[in-house]
Amino acid sequence: MAYLEPAPLKDKENPFEAMMTRFHMASQILGLEEEIYNVLKNPARQVIVSLPVTMDDGAIRVFEGYRVIHSTILGPSKGGIRFDPNVNLDEVKALAAWMTWKCAVVDIPYGGAKGGVNCNPREMSAGEIERLMRAYTQAMADVFGPDQDIPAPDMGTGPREMAWLMDQYSRNKGMTTHAVVTGKPLVMGGSLGRTEATGRGVMVSAMAAMEKLKINPYKATCAVQGFGNVGSWAARLLSERGLLVQAINDLSGAYYNESGIDIDKAIQFRDQKNGSLEGFDGAEKINQDDLLTLPVDVLVPAATEDVITSSNALNIKAKLIVEGANGPTSSRADKIINEKGIVVVPDILANAGGVTVSYFEWVQNRLGYKWTADRVNRRSDRIMKDAFINVYKTSQEYNVPMRIAAYMVAIDKVSKTYKYRGGY
Ligand code: GLU
Repeated sequence: MAYLEPAPLKDKENPFEAMMTRFHMASQILGLEEEIYNVLKNPARQVIVSLPVTMDDGAIRVFEGYRVIHSTILGPSKGGIRFDPNVNLDEVKALAAWMTWKCAVVDIPYGGAKGGVNCNPREMSAGEIERLMRAYTQAMADVFGPDQDIPAPDMGTGPREMAWLMDQYSRNKGMTTHAVVTGKPLVMGGSLGRTEATGRGVMVSAMAAMEKLKINPYKATCAVQGFGNVGSWAARLLSERGLLVQAINDLSGAYYNESGIDIDKAIQFRDQKNGSLEGFDGAEKINQDDLLTLPVDVLVPAATEDVITSSNALNIKAKLIVEGANGPTSSRADKIINEKGIVVVPDILANAGGVTVSYFEWVQNRLGYKWTADRVNRRSDRIMKDAFINVYKTSQEYNVPMRIAAYMVAIDKVSKTYKYRGGY
């Protein structure tokens, strides 16, 4: 079958091209009709706003904000908001599509969206960030809604920002609306288990993959790239399951200890040091680029897009890669990694624990009820395990890597639903 556009296969690709390459391959294998391919490749809606914000020194700065709704076929769209200096429309478009596939892989009734503001929250005061978040929410008042589009945290945002969003939206509507956003603080409708949910899902899928590969977690070593919410929780939970986490990193540098890093100590250090590992003495400092190519069994990229590329893929020694970040591997690197026989648990499966518990938070908000941490964890672990098994089976059945299998599972579900719902 020939689609209108050939799949791009460049390295330093932009994330949207990386997403499209996989989408294209999986669609071909599934034999997806060209009409449906065209429906799914284009985002349903793209909103760009300009946000004037008064800075602490009195100056007015104008930020550009985005919300891309890729699909609402499976349900209201869902996805985080990123505050980062690299945010651009192409990136947000890719991240929005990844949310569609992610929600479909774990079988939760949401479409996909993503938002972002091009800004550097590290250089902004809490007051400036609050004003920016309120301006963004106000500009998106007609986009967001508990049955429409439900934001959540992503890079550069967390429970504090979600609280401002919930408050601003609620003021606008004249009623408290918890279910408009997930990842809120516990005291205002957040869910137990949401903070650690993405890292926990990474751990659950890593354990499931290790079982298939017959890697004994008590004898396995691991490197985790990125020590934000996802990386630090994944590192902590993997080390609790017996893995020796030998390397971690953040913007301040990469840290290596052959006998294993005490992750609780590293987290405590980071929390006392304004979020940075700078000066951490539980490990020696190594070159940032060397972390990805260490001789470990399990590699967890949990920072950002496009870090495993054709320039370092050949040197990767891990047997298993579990993608905590969205889009950490370029499509050209995919090819090299597959040829080397490295197993990859892809982002849209491995990091879906976050949106799964977001879904639970939304369900609890709508019920006006709170679940125990135990119930949240048990249910999300089961969803992650089932999704892993489903993708693994598909990969065996079609003899394709798990990444393509995950896209196939997702595209199949969304396209079938589209056919039932119908178009104009
Ligand atoms: N930003 C997270 C992700 O990329 C969570 C999204 C959500 O909970 O809606 O999966």
